[in-house]
Amino acid sequence: MRGCPMTGFALGVDQEEWCGRLRALSAQRLRPLAEKGEPGRVNRPLLAELGELGLLERVFTSGALELCLLRESLAYGCTEAETALALQGLGAYPVLRAGSEEQRERWLPRVRTGRAVAAFALSEPAAGSDAAALALAAEPDPAGGWRLVGEKCWISNAPEADFYTVFARTGEGPGARGVSAFLVPADREGLGGQPLEMLSPHPIGSLRFDGVPVGPQDLLGEAGRGFRVAMDTLNLFRPSVGAFAVGMARAALDATLAHTAGRTAFGGTLSDLQAVAHRVAEMATRTEAARLLVYAAAGAYDRGAADVPRRAAMAKLLATETAQYVVDQAVQLHGAVALQRGHLLEHLYREVRAPRIYEGASEVQRTIIAKELYGALGAGR
Ligand SMILES: Cc1cc2nc3c(=O)[nH]c(=O)nc-3n(C[C@H](O)[C@H](O)[C@H](O)COP(=O)(O)OP(=O)(O)OC[C@H]3O[C@@H](n4cnc5c(N)ncnc54)[C@H](O)[C@@H]3O)c2cc1C
Repeated sequence: MRGCPMTGFALGVDQEEWCGRLRALSAQRLRPLAEKGEPGRVNRPLLAELGELGLLERVFTSGALELCLLRESLAYGCTEAETALALQGLGAYPVLRAGSEEQRERWLPRVRTGRAVAAFALSEPAAGSDAAALALAAEPDPAGGWRLVGEKCWISNAPEADFYTVFARTGEGPGARGVSAFLVPADREGLGGQPLEMLSPHPIGSLRFDGVPVGPQDLLGEAGRGFRVAMDTLNLFRPSVGAFAVGMARAALDATLAHTAGRTAFGGTLSDLQAVAHRVAEMATRTEAARLLVYAAAGAYDRGAADVPRRAAMAKLLATETAQYVVDQAVQLHGAVALQRGHLLEHLYREVRAPRIYEGASEVQRTIIAKELYGALGAGR
């Protein structure tokens, strides 16, 4: 983006304009495609349009702040488009970062145009927050390479994705040190999966690995170094989960402003009631605070600052918790209409819950923040 970069407290003019264009695109071009999709299924026409608009490309060429602006602006107008875009990034960033030339050439052009669907498969039934405890076994195959045996669970885009970034235990060391990352095409023999029905309207499922053959050419990076690949990916995406939440909070806030200013009751409008107006003021203040914290964390990432883990965790924590509060308050101030199937707030109420759990639950973010704070105290002694 040209000129006028973001200062500590405000976006530049070009950035504001870009966000405005993205909000308009998401409402006019992406929302109609999202509405034609089936809840819980991958929406390929929507992905193709994200590719056509050049937005998937931006996921791989943008810095963290631009990624946040992209996710926030899309979320404002169309959460399905936002999520489809973010999942391409999450599933394919490990290929960009650690893949071989051949893997990149084969998959990334198709990911960028929305013709190949990517997924990031880390979590398992018995290893969620404690991801280093993952148990999917990469057993040495006497014929060469490994055989993957086990399960993954709650994998976005599964089982419909075209390839999976899979984290499995090759056993070079205990815990995180014995994990390798593999790129597994969906048509590899022995790989199966089931869709899962979740509260959020997002495609998600489980994967079953029944002796899936993988070789050195399928590794993403070195054997035994896969956990680093997973953590680097999550570190980049963490502030942008906060941006997704801010986009939802801003949509809920704007809907509430319009509704309370127009809804008549007790001889005036709802906004004439001080209890209502003060609640809207509180929603706006908390949303603004979350937005600034997200931008600050993303800016720190782009500068390569040393305190990124703390800032990213704070941003994800505050933004996702704030969005939950704001959407809930928005439902309250709309009354019954917000709970009607198909209403924006009914949709946001379902969307807003999961980000407090995935990519590190709120409690895990607090643990990271506290560890960083006490670590810095120790280093200063
Ligand atoms: C909509 C959705 C999409 C997802 N997509 C993906 C995906 O694409 N790929 C993927 O690999 N995974 C994905 N996940 C899984 C997600 O990463 C896990 O749900 C998450 O890591 C938490 O793991 P868990 O659900 O097993 O909860 P657990 O680890 O069992 O934790 C349960 C709860 O215990 C508490 N807790 C956990 N750890 C701590 C701690 N250290 N301190 C204090 N309290 C704690 C928290 O309240 C937490 O919510 C997705 C999940 C959802 C809901």
